[in-house]
Amino acid sequence: MPRPRKCQISDEDFGGFQLIIDLDFYYDTKEICEYVREKLVTSLNKLHLGQLTFRAKEKNFHIHDKDIYDLRRTSENDIIYVCAHC
Ligand SMILES: [Zn+2]
Repeated sequence: MPRPRKCQISDEDFGGFQLIIDLDFYYDTKEICEYVREKLVTSLNKLHLGQLTFRAKEKNFHIHDKDIYDLRRTSENDIIYVCAHC
C-alpha cells in the first residue's frame, strides 16, 4: 500500500516548494529531508540557478516534532513541512 504525502519546504528562500513522496520508501525523517533537498537541487539545476543550488545544499532541512512513525499515522491530505528556518 503506497502512502503518498505532500511535502512542502518552509523556509525564506525555498518556501512553497512541494513534492509528493511515498512514506513507505523512507526509514526516517532525515532521509525524507535529503530526498526533498535532492529534488530541489535538481529543479534548480534545470533552471540553471547555480547560486541557489549552492544555497540549497547548505540548508539544514529538518522535520519538527515527528518521526517516521508519526508521519505514517497522518492522513493522506496532511502536508509534511520541511523546515530550514532554524
Ligand atoms: Zn526548524
